[in-house]
Amino acid sequence: MTPLSEQNPEALHATLGDLQSRYAELQARGLKLDMTRGKPAPDQLDLSDDLLTMPGNRDHFTESREDARNYGGVQGLAELRTLFSGVLGAPPAQIVAGNNSSLALMHDCLAYALLKGVPGGARPWSREETVRFLCPVPGYDRHFALCETYGIEMLSVPMTPDGPDMAVVEDLVRDPSVKGMWCVPQYSNPGGETYSDDTVRRLAAMEAGAPDFRLFWDNAYALHHLTERRPHLVNVLEAAAEAGHPDRPFVFASTSKVTLAGAGVAFLAGSPDTIRWYLGCAGKRSIGPDKLNQLRHARFLRDEAGLLRLMDGHRQRLAPKFTAVTRILDRDLGGTGAARWTDPEGGYFILLETPEGCASRVVELAAGCGLAMTPAGATHPYGRDPHDRILRLAPSYPSLAEVEAAAEVIALCTLIAATEARLRG
Ligand code: PMP
Repeated sequence: MTPLSEQNPEALHATLGDLQSRYAELQARGLKLDMTRGKPAPDQLDLSDDLLTMPGNRDHFTESREDARNYGGVQGLAELRTLFSGVLGAPPAQIVAGNNSSLALMHDCLAYALLKGVPGGARPWSREETVRFLCPVPGYDRHFALCETYGIEMLSVPMTPDGPDMAVVEDLVRDPSVKGMWCVPQYSNPGGETYSDDTVRRLAAMEAGAPDFRLFWDNAYALHHLTERRPHLVNVLEAAAEAGHPDRPFVFASTSKVTLAGAGVAFLAGSPDTIRWYLGCAGKRSIGPDKLNQLRHARFLRDEAGLLRLMDGHRQRLAPKFTAVTRILDRDLGGTGAARWTDPEGGYFILLETPEGCASRVVELAAGCGLAMTPAGATHPYGRDPHDRILRLAPSYPSLAEVEAAAEVIALCTLIAATEARLRG
């Protein structure tokens, strides 16, 4: 197809007519597809089926002869903390193994900071006039939702291929009302970027206006590679300690996309003071986590090699879906100038960038063809993409055939929206 920018209005009208008849054909197929969220597919969950019969009859003693059926052990099983020590980049003593959701741990750290304050702070965050968080954009909607629900003001920071734009971050963070920053440092949601060494070191070392500033370091995709390549990510806890800010990072991860999304284990890692602080707060909230789930995870994964083997299985199932999307977008949108998209090396998302003002129209058109997409704007604080341009594609859950059909729908809807936009001028 001739690039849209080279078509005169007459040609654009003809193109639109052509695209609309293809749209009617797609509508007639009666598709019912869902690409809204980054959920693992059933065949990925099947990889962890053995968990359903573990730890097994009468197997309920931990390595330290604790009875996992009983109360207690708020820090979580030592053997599981040891198993994830390499992934989290912290010694087992500086790790908490909790229940199934790292988002819940992020919520709790935020809530405790608001209600009680964090080490090094003068008062609970909720006693401040205004609390602000830096939000690399595009970003993860549930991070933004946490801020919104607790009245934390969000300041957008543009993403670059190396992570958040550090000149902007270093400028904004001098404001003492900036208490935190969301970071998805590897295969970020949704752009897929991994923070460069320089970015991580600067985040760890920068002068913050608030003495109790925290990095909410959500390493949700630490193990989630889509290729043979492995990115390098600087250990933020070490970098922060070296820079004299040992308590700055709250490091989060979970097995939601390793074992079972609804029944995995989540982790928090931090400095010794951070862990003491967290356990002091968490010990009031609960007498201890689900240690039987932790025990069966330790039995099932065995060691780090077992963990990496399992991730290979995920990659084998996921990578073809990502390849299918980029292949179809290349085929149908390549050279048209109607969009740009990422070809991520890991994580769960492809980012599609449409011309200004087109993203919500693409979602509307896709819905008309039976495809549910993540709403436009979800990747921005307050759900508002000021340019209405960014879309997040989540190819993990549908089958490969469904993903291919969905990619065709997305490509066509993007072309229609972009052609309409050019005709509007
Ligand atoms: N962080 C990021 C960046 C995510 O993309 C997701 C899931 N989509 C989560 C956290 C949720 O993690 P969990 O299941 O451990 O709560």
